[in-house]
Amino acid sequence: MGRALAASLLIVFGTAQAPVALAQSQLPMMGDGAEMTTSAERKLGDRIIRELYRDPDYIDDAVLQEYVQGLFQALVQAAQERGELSPELQERFAWQILLGRDRTVNAFALPGGYFGVHLGLIGVVGTRDELASVLAHELSHVTQRHIARLMAQQGRQTPLMLGAMILGALAAAKNPAAAQAMMVGGQALAVQNQLNFSRDMEREADRVGFGLMQPAGFAPQGFVGMFDKLQQANRINDNGSWPYLRSHPLTTQRIADMHSRIPQGAAAPAPATLEHLMMAARARVLMRPGVDTWRQWVAEPQDAGFSARPLAQRVPAWYAATLAAVQLGNMAAARQSLRGLQADVRGDAAAARQARLLGAELELAAGDAPAALTYLQDSVVAGAEKKAGAPMGRPEMLLRTQALLRTGAAADMAGPLQTWVTSHPGDATAWQLLAQAWQQQKQPLRAVRAEAEAQVARYDYAAAVDRFKAGQDLARRGGAAADHIEASIIDTRLRAVQSLLKEQAAER
Ligand SMILES: [Zn+2]
Repeated sequence: MGRALAASLLIVFGTAQAPVALAQSQLPMMGDGAEMTTSAERKLGDRIIRELYRDPDYIDDAVLQEYVQGLFQALVQAAQERGELSPELQERFAWQILLGRDRTVNAFALPGGYFGVHLGLIGVVGTRDELASVLAHELSHVTQRHIARLMAQQGRQTPLMLGAMILGALAAAKNPAAAQAMMVGGQALAVQNQLNFSRDMEREADRVGFGLMQPAGFAPQGFVGMFDKLQQANRINDNGSWPYLRSHPLTTQRIADMHSRIPQGAAAPAPATLEHLMMAARARVLMRPGVDTWRQWVAEPQDAGFSARPLAQRVPAWYAATLAAVQLGNMAAARQSLRGLQADVRGDAAAARQARLLGAELELAAGDAPAALTYLQDSVVAGAEKKAGAPMGRPEMLLRTQALLRTGAAADMAGPLQTWVTSHPGDATAWQLLAQAWQQQKQPLRAVRAEAEAQVARYDYAAAVDRFKAGQDLARRGGAAADHIEASIIDTRLRAVQSLLKEQAAER
C-alpha cells in the first residue's frame, strides 16, 4: 500500500498582523500568567468550529470518530487524575476531535478544547500508541494553557479577527501554495513565522503528554515511534513548503528528550492491534487517494502469496479492499473481500466488530437494508466485547437507524436516539437521524425540533431559529390536534437560541 509521508505534523497557530520581530520580542515567558479566560477561549473555539462544520472536508465518520475519540478520552481522564486538567477546565471545554479528510499528516489544537486530526495522520501511524502520543501532545498544549497565552499575546484583536486568523492559518496549512498566493509579501512571511508555539511550549507539551501515556493505558514508546516517523518525513520532504519542518526544533532536542525518558530495558511496546490496522486502512481509503489506488487495493488480495502473508498485513489489506470496492460501487468484490476479512478476524472481538460494521456499511451502500440489519442485530452486536444490556455503540446506532429508515421501521430507533442526544446534545448527526425517524413516525413537530437542535449542535443559531419558527407555524396550523408539550418546548428553546444568537452577533 502506498503510504506517502506527505508532510510533517504541523501545529497551526498564528496571526497575520504583527511584524515578525515585534511579535517575537513580545513572546510571554512561561508562566507569566497572561492568558485568555476559559470562557472567552471556549467561545472563540465555538466560533471556529462553526466554520469548520460547514467545510465538507470535516467529516463525521462514526467508526473513526469513535476510535480516535476513545483514545483521546483515556488521555483526558489521565490528565484529570494527574492534576494536569482542572475540573473547571474539564467542565468548560469541549474535548472534542474533528476529523479532516485531508491527506496531509497533521493534527492541531484549537481554542476551547477542540482538536483537529487529519485522516492522513491516522493513515500513517503504526500503532494506537503512536496516535495517542500526538493526541497527548496536543491535549497538553490546551491543559497547559499555551493557546490561552498565545491568544492573550494578540492584544487587542477582537474574537472575530482571532477566529479569522486561525481559520486562515488552517487554510494555509491545507494548501500552502494557494494561501501564499492570496497573501502579499511580508504578511505571508509573518504568518509562517508565527504558526508555531514557542520551543519551550513544545517541550512542555512533550513532557506533560509523555506523562499521560502510561496512566492512560498506552506505551510511552509511541512518542519515539512517532518522532522517528516525523524525522523520516523531514528527510524526504524538506522542500520549503512546510515551514514547520524547517523551523521546528523537532529533530534533535525533542527526540533526545523522548529517548531519555524511556527507561533502560523497558519492555518493547505491543504490536499494533488488528483493530488499529483496520482503522488506519479505513483512513487511507476515505482520504480519497484516487480511483486507480482504490482499484489496486481491491485487487491486492488476489496477489500471489497473499494468503501466506502475516495476519497483520492481510487484515488491513482485506479491509481496504472491501471499503475501496464499496467506494467504487463494486459490491460483489466488496462482499468477497469482506468474507476474507471475517475469516481472518475470527477470535479477535474488537476486529470482528469492525468487520461487522463494515458489512453493515457495505450492505447499506448496496441498498440492501435487511442484509445490513443482520450485521447489527442485538444478539450479534452483544458479542464478547459488549456486556449484555449495555447500550449499543454509536456506529451501530447510526447504521441501524439508517437501515431502519429504509425499511420504514425507524420508529424503533426514536427511543434510543432520544436517550443518546439527551446525554450527547452536541451530536448533530444523531439529531438529524432522529428528525428523520420522527418524520417516519408521523411526528412532524418533533422532527422539526430535532432538525433545529442539529443546527444548534453545529453552532448555527440562525438556522436553528429558522427551524424553531417553522415548528411554531406547524404547531399553530395543527390547532387542537397539535402536540402542546412539544410546542411549548419549541417556544422555550426558540427564546434560548435567540438570545444565543444575539450574544454571538454582539461578539465582534
Ligand atoms: Zn506542539
